[in-house]
Amino acid sequence: MLPSPPPREGQLGFLYCPPYRVQGISVAGEQTVVQVPELDVCFDMGQCTRASLSASVIALSHAHMDHIGGLPYWFSQRYFQKIGAETHLPDTGQPPARGSVGKVVCHPELEAPLRAMLRAWEPLERQRTPSEIIPLAPEEEYQLKNNVTLRAIETRHTVPSLGFAVIERRSKLKEEFKDFPQERLRALRQAGTEITHPVEIPLVAYTGDTEPGEFLVRNEFAKAKIVIVECTFFEPEHRGRANTGKHIHVEDLVRLLHVWEAESVVIVHASRRTTIPYARERLQALCGEHLPRVHMLMDHRMNRQRYDAQVAASQALVAAREAATASRLAESAAANDATLVDESDVRDADESSG
Ligand SMILES: [Zn+2]
Ligand SMILES: [Zn+2]
Repeated sequence: MLPSPPPREGQLGFLYCPPYRVQGISVAGEQTVVQVPELDVCFDMGQCTRASLSASVIALSHAHMDHIGGLPYWFSQRYFQKIGAETHLPDTGQPPARGSVGKVVCHPELEAPLRAMLRAWEPLERQRTPSEIIPLAPEEEYQLKNNVTLRAIETRHTVPSLGFAVIERRSKLKEEFKDFPQERLRALRQAGTEITHPVEIPLVAYTGDTEPGEFLVRNEFAKAKIVIVECTFFEPEHRGRANTGKHIHVEDLVRLLHVWEAESVVIVHASRRTTIPYARERLQALCGEHLPRVHMLMDHRMNRQRYDAQVAASQALVAAREAATASRLAESAAANDATLVDESDVRDADESSG
């Protein structure tokens, strides 16, 4: 009799969408946790992965268990492992706590039940795990870092739900000053003229669980460099299920691809019943010209191939640069030799004349 094999546990999905990594695990109804380490944010906390402990902010789309199940554990592990900066317990008025406090940004309707849930752990664990809950109403923003904010966007699911956009603010020279020389611009600025105007650049947008709606064609989604989108159903006969559960069906996604300019569209939250090869087949049949920018977070095989190709391309680029530098050096060395010959010729001439 063959020995029984060990169980196979979920592997982290990974995509490199320069300059961002998108990593996590996402299966509809089971767990969704999608981290973008470069932005220090993690969308949802359905399961606390080791990698997700380094994020200091969880952007919670809604409170279905597959999106929130890992949250108390995440707070607790960050505290236990003393991850992050020293902060205080903001809502207790108590002295600074040991370790660090993770933050969760959520729909305002979730604030009170989340606090109650975390309080319920205290008598069980006989300790108070510090946590920070930040209610964010639709259209409100939370600052992630300098010039970079997280904006809440109201979506439509079977419970209160939010999508999120990470937005960078830059100041751009106004059109009318475009051809002005630097000195004139400086003079104008000194004279108090506003020569720039602020622009918003959506970096990453996350739909969370939602049915399709007008909110998904807003600028934050249309112009984002990366859109992370739930797509739960791929089978043509599952349109009804998508409608009932208020989820996105692959046919809705295809329509959105025409609007979204993103370099990368990352699909998460596919149903367990949908095999990766079948989902890929459907995408190939439906996405047309958009296919190269559409990826599935949990398509490990394709993503591995893609990553290997990215590494190979970058290595080839480095090698080409090195070869160019080497040939430039060789050229200038040859030129130097020529100069040296010239100089020695001169010296010879001097010596012979002297
Ligand atoms: Zn879900
Ligand atoms: Zn849900």
